[in-house]
Amino acid sequence: MFQVTFLGTGATVPSADRGLSSLMVEHEATRVLVDCGEGTLRQIRKAHLGMRRLDRVLLTHGHLDHVLGLAGIASTLELWDQASGLTIHGSDTALQVARTLLDQVVWPEDGPAIRVEYQEVKRDSPVLDQNGLRITAFPVRHHETHSFGYLFEEAGRRPMDVGKLEELGVPAGPDRHRLTEKGSIDLPDGRTVRLEDVLGPPERGARLAVVGDAERIDDLVEPVRGADLLVIEATYVTADEGTARSRGHLTVRDACELAKRAEVRRLLLTHQSSRYDPEAVRREAQEFFPAAEIAKDFDRVRAEASAG
Ligand SMILES: [Zn+2]
Ligand SMILES: [Zn+2]
Repeated sequence: MFQVTFLGTGATVPSADRGLSSLMVEHEATRVLVDCGEGTLRQIRKAHLGMRRLDRVLLTHGHLDHVLGLAGIASTLELWDQASGLTIHGSDTALQVARTLLDQVVWPEDGPAIRVEYQEVKRDSPVLDQNGLRITAFPVRHHETHSFGYLFEEAGRRPMDVGKLEELGVPAGPDRHRLTEKGSIDLPDGRTVRLEDVLGPPERGARLAVVGDAERIDDLVEPVRGADLLVIEATYVTADEGTARSRGHLTVRDACELAKRAEVRRLLLTHQSSRYDPEAVRREAQEFFPAAEIAKDFDRVRAEASAG
């Protein structure tokens, strides 16, 4: 299960209600920030998420409305002497923007007192693969940038089947824990029960796809296919399609069309222009894709694997 907290859902300039692009993905003890627009630090504090274990940022691209907040996060981590430091992942050009901001504005003289690492995202190697969480990246076309979207996949598991445990007479409680840990247990009547005798069918883990700014959807269908939750920009309503095309953004209909073609279960639209009434955008989106919603700052949403 992934927990997604929207920290900024506005496009290009912040409004009274919407900060600039950023969201936090939490999976067990791992926390990952995707994008870090201006004001993200304040949004994190306002959402009461705290700064602990906040040591990894994925950038979708290097436009300033997705990157400027890194300065505040990095200087605060240093101020608080966060030993875990900061790893920033992104394309070559996104990292160049991040590096310039941090090296020349935040730490122009002595460099950082915390560990800061820049990791260039490569298409074929995972961004992260640890503790049952795998993050991979896929290219996204947006306005001549080098952009990436990110797929978060939770490892599948095979839980014990309560019916089988009861059938074999394994009592609830510590015996079941021992069985999981050791792989087998000896029961008082002399029988040995092995873990594989009591496992249910394999269950797949949750799948979450996050796409930042984008100008077309045809090459995104396969990368986000079957996601339990897709988060993607929809800067313009369909009536403003011409503006969307000229500025390298998607319309609500584009994003919904992607969700439909890729058979995702749930769709959250973000990077919203302040010129629209969110309720009208929601109505438009749900006409195209009933499981669409419009993200607001501080919304918390779960991405869970479907049963079966
Ligand atoms: Zn943007
Ligand atoms: Zn952009």
